Amino acid sequence: MTDRRDELAANLAKVEERIAAACAAAGRKRDEVTLIVVTKTYPASDVRTLAELGVRHVAENRDQDAAPKAAECADLPLSWHFVGQLQTNKVRSVVGYADVVQSVDRARLVTALSKEAERSGRELGCLIQVALDAGVSGRGERGGVGPGGVGELADLVAASPGLRLDGLMTVAPLTGEYAGRQQEAFGRLMDLSTDLRRAHPAANMVSAGMSADLEQAVAAGATHVRVGTAVLGVRPRLG
Ligand SMILES: *Cc1c(COP(=O)(O)O)cnc(C)c1O
Repeated sequence: MTDRRDELAANLAKVEERIAAACAAAGRKRDEVTLIVVTKTYPASDVRTLAELGVRHVAENRDQDAAPKAAECADLPLSWHFVGQLQTNKVRSVVGYADVVQSVDRARLVTALSKEAERSGRELGCLIQVALDAGVSGRGERGGVGPGGVGELADLVAASPGLRLDGLMTVAPLTGEYAGRQQEAFGRLMDLSTDLRRAHPAANMVSAGMSADLEQAVAAGATHVRVGTAVLGVRPRLG
């Protein structure tokens, strides 16, 4: 247990150093970037240790794993981000613990989230997940709406009771014109964020960058990076 704590502390310190260096290189203040630790596939005990080490934001991508973990960690001062593809039949459960859903990508999901947030008397933060591997108004391989669909979906979120439009999220695409070009992909996301903020000035969150490409995301202007492997280790299974 102590070994695991030391390991997590050392990994966190390394990630912190990387974020600080990336901020310095980009001429940004360190506090402009928030670290979200992606704890998927790892146990609640790790989440607890991370909270003790000062982590305040965690993310999960599967409700089946996240719901019991969040329940076990309900006493901790953590914000929970949901970052996975979300089916409407899981919405009730997710709204029970998530503070932010980063993977909002279709109108039907917005309607379901709004209904459930209102029912439970919660305000839920929403990021539109942008699929940069989609065609102009298409959909992404791993969820997300194409750039052409962002505006309409954002307006819908902003008009939906119980929901707060916080900004945009993306995962650097493995296929299509941005494959292997993280810097350009994140730059495109920033342009979309600029457009979004014309209509919705408060929606200024930009969630981009993971263990392998957080530097490029910070350079582009991301406000939130989502880091799993670099903090917790290589995941034992796909997730
Ligand atoms: C797993 C995951 C991450 C973290 O990825 P790592 O490469 O482990 O840092 C970030 N964002 C999303 C949406 C994820 O599913």
